Amino acid sequence: MDDGLLIPVSALQHVLFCERQFSLIHVERMWSENRFTAEGRILHERVHAEHHESRRTVRQEFGFAIRSTTYGLIGICDLVEIQLQDRKTPVCITPVEFKRGKTKETDVDLVQLCAQAICLQEMFEMDVPCGQIYYLQEHRRKTIEIDDPLVSQTLILVERCRSLMAGEETPKAVYEPKKCNACSLFDLCGPKHFGAGGKQVSRYVQNQTRIIQTENPA
Ligand code: SF4
Repeated sequence: MDDGLLIPVSALQHVLFCERQFSLIHVERMWSENRFTAEGRILHERVHAEHHESRRTVRQEFGFAIRSTTYGLIGICDLVEIQLQDRKTPVCITPVEFKRGKTKETDVDLVQLCAQAICLQEMFEMDVPCGQIYYLQEHRRKTIEIDDPLVSQTLILVERCRSLMAGEETPKAVYEPKKCNACSLFDLCGPKHFGAGGKQVSRYVQNQTRIIQTENPA
């Protein structure tokens, strides 16, 4: 598959949270950090810097690169735990995702975890029946079953990402206070300004720059 069509597993949480946010980040290549994203980034950097650890029955791999050629997915698992038989034969693989907050009302974290499980299943050629999410504010791991409905939901989102990446238009903003006020792209997105038109933000910024240059010729 063309590398340009590969979907990062982390993009699935963006597309489920808000399709416009997905397009701004993964199509228009825009990014802005707020307190939540900065805390999340620091947490992931800290986890990925851990060294792998091996014990008699389990091996832990931090910052583990994953890929699915079947579904065109790439990414990094915060932690992969590999249960071993005879100290070397993998018998059970579990992805573990670290999150700074607490359990969310939506499935945004679950689809990301499921995409990791799909990749690991292909790489190790074995079932990955569950994954775990560690929520920092809850100080505990939560076990998530990778069942058929979750896999279907995840694969539908992968296809949605691909069609948004191939499309011309950035989805229009729909202002939802609870969501938008927590979104790090709020200023770039302008949910109130762009809500009606669905314009491409990068095109808008270019036009504004042209207007400023016309008004203030060098
Ligand atoms: S501000 Fe709202 S509409 Fe804009 S990207 Fe964020 S969540 Fe989506």
